[in-house]
Amino acid sequence: MSAVLKQIQEVLGRHGGRRQGRQVRLRCPFCQHNCLDVALGETGRLIAHCLSPACADRKGNHLIKQLGLPVDVLAEADREALGSETFFGEITAAPSAPRASAATRDQIYRAWLAACPPDEQTRRFLARYGLNDEEIDKRGYGRWPVEDVLGRLPMTDPAVLKTVPGIIDPGNGKLDTALRDPRFAGVLIPVRNAEGQVVTLKVRLYQPDASGKMRSLSSAYCGGPEAEYAIHHPLDTQKSSRVHVVEGEIKADIVAALARVTVLGLPGVHGI
Ligand SMILES: [Zn+2]
Repeated sequence: MSAVLKQIQEVLGRHGGRRQGRQVRLRCPFCQHNCLDVALGETGRLIAHCLSPACADRKGNHLIKQLGLPVDVLAEADREALGSETFFGEITAAPSAPRASAATRDQIYRAWLAACPPDEQTRRFLARYGLNDEEIDKRGYGRWPVEDVLGRLPMTDPAVLKTVPGIIDPGNGKLDTALRDPRFAGVLIPVRNAEGQVVTLKVRLYQPDASGKMRSLSSAYCGGPEAEYAIHHPLDTQKSSRVHVVEGEIKADIVAALARVTVLGLPGVHGI
């Protein structure tokens, strides 16, 4: 295989490449959604197109450059190989980067939430679903985005911080940049495991887009660790013989707050 093809295969794998016909679906470096298509154009150039209407950079060479793919017209032999059914089929997503332990994530995410306390909009939003101020504070909700979260975290070792999903490049003070965009404003939700540790942070967008209402803070789109796909255990959920399962963390918290039952929140596509 030529050096160019190797480079393409490596880059596509690193961005979570999944084959879709004669193109590959990747995570977009700008909006973070898994809806960036890369294919070989008729001219022999790679072309990229982000399907998310929320993305400011949906089409063009800069997407290709940002991914680190060749922007030149490919040589004839490479074009033939790329155009074949087998090449894109061989692309496999790279193994995930190591993720911090639940205890470390809990420590960092709690400090993160403390740096982003709920504002009036957060409280109004959650009140519509029946969570009062006391419940909102007890369960640890926050607001998003907030500037300079990184400076307020208790740990400063960049090697540790970059294993926490959502912290992209601690050396440069970068967080999950896509989610810092004002278009991704929303409620910051702590997702807790059975021990009550905050193992994942999610944002419930105030303005849902084509990719839905929820975003997990993740570093996967630039080669870092993915968010843990965790089942949410609301705080002080009661021990009962029957377990109630609902879709979404906010709903699970509401049920826990209102009813004396055991409830779990599954990460759902349409959860509120
Ligand atoms: Zn995009």
